[in-house]
Amino acid sequence: MNEPATRVKQLAPDLWLLDTLFQGSPGVIASYLLTGPDGLALVDVGSAVTLDTLLASVRAAGHQPEEIAHILLTHIHLDHAGATGPLLRRTPHARVYVHHIGAPHLVNPSKLIESASRIYGDKMGQLWGEMLPVPEDRITTLDEGSEVRIGQRTLRALYTPGHAIHHVAFHDAANAAVFTGDAAGVRLEDVDYVRPPTPPPDLNLEDWSVSIERLRALRPETLYLPHFGPAAGTERHFAELRERLYAWGEIVARGMRQGENDAQIADDLAAAADPEVARAAATAGDPEQEVRRYELATNYLMSAQGYMRYYRKTHPEALAN
Ligand SMILES: [Zn+2]
Repeated sequence: MNEPATRVKQLAPDLWLLDTLFQGSPGVIASYLLTGPDGLALVDVGSAVTLDTLLASVRAAGHQPEEIAHILLTHIHLDHAGATGPLLRRTPHARVYVHHIGAPHLVNPSKLIESASRIYGDKMGQLWGEMLPVPEDRITTLDEGSEVRIGQRTLRALYTPGHAIHHVAFHDAANAAVFTGDAAGVRLEDVDYVRPPTPPPDLNLEDWSVSIERLRALRPETLYLPHFGPAAGTERHFAELRERLYAWGEIVARGMRQGENDAQIADDLAAAADPEVARAAATAGDPEQEVRRYELATNYLMSAQGYMRYYRKTHPEALAN
């Protein structure tokens, strides 16, 4: 069997960026590989569909998948954790680290599959493949402040809800870095534009604001974004994320007040945001391709649905005409 194509980049002596090449597209979903004498760690693992690419990427970085000892999940959404179940079958020594609120949904993924199916419909299989349950005895649950040691690094779980109720970021204080998961938004390579990924069912703007503030207060130099790659942990990055999170909320609330459905509201978001992405991507070569890449990383329909659920559940008063 031919080894799948890979795209890996060494970021530090013990740290690699692995591109899972989601849907054949570079620069959309990353996994991070940390190496150490006691085995390898992955931070997020991508879709089950790209498992073979992930394994080939570990080999391309000069290591063997069997050496994976730690699978750290920022959260359980399928673009971050979908490959966990099948990966465990290939990594006999690996343990999974996940926030305690997310853990039960890895053991029994039925709710996770159900909520993803509402978003992705008949594209489920093509995008995410089969979500295998994770054996409970292979999970270590995390709380705020839990620490995981990998080689020289200590990663500290920072509870960062808002995007997902069970979301953690991993703070590497000694290196002034954070493995952010989706809490720091989506900023693709070579494009200076931060997009809030706002899926149902957990989206909560107040919680997310607090999480952004917590991340900002760490004054990280580097954000390791799953979508995609290292970014400077600047004030501007966090300010832009927060601003856009609320600006999009205004667009969605207005659409809801006008009786629009999710598809119409998704069009409103695209009409407002795509020109901004294209402008920001003007120097990246092909602005249209960057627009598509952002959409693949976090699509407008899902974003619209996330806000709509949030407003109905939490702020019905915002929907009164
Ligand atoms: Zn997510």
